[in-house]
Amino acid sequence: SIELLAVDGGGTKTIAVLVNAEGTIIGEGRAGASNYHVVGVERAEDAIVAAILDAFKDAGIGFCDQVNVEKAVFALAGIDTTIDEKEVKGIVQRGINALSIGIGSVIVENDALSALFGATQKKAGVLLIAGTGSIVFAHDGNGRIVRSGGWGHRFGDEGSGYWIGKQAIQSVLKMKDGREEDTLLAKLILEKFELSTIEDLYNWAYSESYSVDDVGALTAVVYEAFCLGDAVSKRIFDAAVDELLVLAGNAIEKANIQQDEFDLILQGGVFHNNPYIKNQFIQKIQHSNTKVKVVTTSEEPIRNIIKRGLEKESTI
Ligand code: BGC
Repeated sequence: SIELLAVDGGGTKTIAVLVNAEGTIIGEGRAGASNYHVVGVERAEDAIVAAILDAFKDAGIGFCDQVNVEKAVFALAGIDTTIDEKEVKGIVQRGINALSIGIGSVIVENDALSALFGATQKKAGVLLIAGTGSIVFAHDGNGRIVRSGGWGHRFGDEGSGYWIGKQAIQSVLKMKDGREEDTLLAKLILEKFELSTIEDLYNWAYSESYSVDDVGALTAVVYEAFCLGDAVSKRIFDAAVDELLVLAGNAIEKANIQQDEFDLILQGGVFHNNPYIKNQFIQKIQHSNTKVKVVTTSEEPIRNIIKRGLEKESTI
């Protein structure tokens, strides 16, 4: 039987893994975004089901095989309020029913909170995600958890991949007016989206083809422009670093951690695919707070979620 099913769902992708009693991953599956604020309830449910089916397939388990799973942990972006919690539990429950698998115990919680529990266990610590979205959670080591940011792509998620992509498009539109200096971003974004003019880019933003995922993916284009010496791109990255510092700083202050040293785990593509942002952030946070020990593993966040799921008892 399978010990654990762990699912990590965000604004771009969903990863599902199956873990046996020895703690070894025996199957891994992937699907698109499952943050229901980003893709809606139905697509979120479909993505969760598709990722799990893919993991079963990878483990050599057929659709009609009788499977029992001891525990499952669903670490999902988009769980930000009690209403979200209810909604997402419904999404997960319907997904489980559709798959007709028997599961002993199920945890459904915010992706960053889950990863923080898994990574720090009972210790004090902070986990900051800058992926498609951004958020931070801090734990004071005595059971008190605080959160900052993570208020979605429309009005929040400062310093995230989506936020960077949005700044890039804004700069291009301002450049068209003459309110922003010329930026390589115009040419590179049009190329990336296979569009001819800035007007086409504007119309794309209000078309059916627009997606949060595509805007977030522009972070790589901004990095390309930055590496070619584009000043606007550098300003966007510096602003992202500042936003992430404010985010982390706010949670650290609220958590009021008493230990002399605590881990700050950095997760998400904005850190892992962007050495400039990562290094600037680390330098500045360490300068402003000497208790912070930054942890940037190349390990997939799913590892922390597995640790969370394998815990015998609640962490706090
Ligand atoms: C979501 C949060 C999530 C964060 C990081 C934000 O867009 O609203 O729920 O934790 O992204 O994935």
